[in-house]
Amino acid sequence: MPDWMALYYDRPLEITHGEGRHVWDAEGNRYLDFFAGILTTMTAHALPEVTKAVADQAGRIIHSSTLYLNRPMVELAERVAALSGIPDARVFFTTSGTEANDAALLLATTYRRSNQVLAMRNSYHGRSFSTVSITGNRGWSPTSLSPLQTLYVHGAVRTRGPFAALTDAQFTEACVADLQDVLGQTRGSVAALIAEPIQGIGGFTSPPDGLYAAFREVLDRHGILWISDEVQTGWGRTGDHFWGWQAHAENGPPDILTFAKGIGNGMSIGGVVARAEVMNCLDANSISTFGGSPVTMAAGLANLGYLLEHDLQGNARRVGGLLLERLRAIGATVPHVRDVRGRGLMAGIELTHPGTDRAHPEATAAVLEATRAAGLLIGRGGGHDTSVLRIAPPLSLTVAEAEEGAEILEQALRSL
Ligand code: PMP
Repeated sequence: MPDWMALYYDRPLEITHGEGRHVWDAEGNRYLDFFAGILTTMTAHALPEVTKAVADQAGRIIHSSTLYLNRPMVELAERVAALSGIPDARVFFTTSGTEANDAALLLATTYRRSNQVLAMRNSYHGRSFSTVSITGNRGWSPTSLSPLQTLYVHGAVRTRGPFAALTDAQFTEACVADLQDVLGQTRGSVAALIAEPIQGIGGFTSPPDGLYAAFREVLDRHGILWISDEVQTGWGRTGDHFWGWQAHAENGPPDILTFAKGIGNGMSIGGVVARAEVMNCLDANSISTFGGSPVTMAAGLANLGYLLEHDLQGNARRVGGLLLERLRAIGATVPHVRDVRGRGLMAGIELTHPGTDRAHPEATAAVLEATRAAGLLIGRGGGHDTSVLRIAPPLSLTVAEAEEGAEILEQALRSL
């Protein structure tokens, strides 16, 4: 396996099984899982409803390809289309978030006959050749070679950069002016703006609510499409909304939405949603051998059904709200904590050298090790310095589990 396949922890962890919000390692240690395999175990580990759907479907047929219809794929497409908020929506299933964004870029650049794309600074959109070229984070973008011409825009990072000291309204105004300035300097048409409503790998950073709606007004004047990368923010994780774009909804939904991670609860499902006119603009055939496979689609249907029936978005809002409140209180008393931010069950704790804005990746690593030793798994992110702790448990997290995790985090932060 490649050297660049990053593993967490000095002594990497082998996870063997899970249940609910817990996982076990090969040595028999149990952990409370506050990272959910990168925000992907959405409902719970070993959720009987999902496990049964997978087993039942695997017993019938595992694979057929998109050359043939399968009922779970059509049913899931219909549910996702209805939930997306995009009128006259079409859904194409892929096997990952990278591939979903790649499909979105193919659609937008073909529809607009332009290879120019606007992306946000500090973004992450995947590991393929096309998606690393719209990833505004050098820690995750190994080459500057690109099939696209990418123009980076301000706005996704509220508490750093040249506009950090402004009020929310002034910040949005400055970012809109920056967008207009970039467009004014650009020759020819621009295909799309792609943005994560809350940046994931970037360290759970986000703009003030409404910023992308303000961008939308400008984009509309140029016919530029808005792609919302909902790979981390979809399915109610942010608590307040089902999709992250809904915090920026004043001027309507995005033209294209991409999703992955949580929908399959770990089965590999990604996908792209677009209105028919955009989705159908490709005039060559396309297939996906594995996209929309019966087993993954059956898992997605069962998982989505469970999420909606148990109002896990509401749980993310309630339990996530309590957790964030607790983390903010802890953060206020730990000198290494520069910022505690997030929404729903997406919480970020940014660590710096006390009293400065200087990233402190060693402190982040120390907290990761200390929480692991105490039986809690968390993630990290935040620009190339990766000095943000990321907390994103399954959306069924209980209040007791939130308290237990916060307790462990508090101890680890105090030990810095
Ligand atoms: N977009 C975002 C916002 C992501 O966080 C990720 C994965 N971390 C991707 C795209 C790529 O998804 P995948 O790893 O499934 O290819």
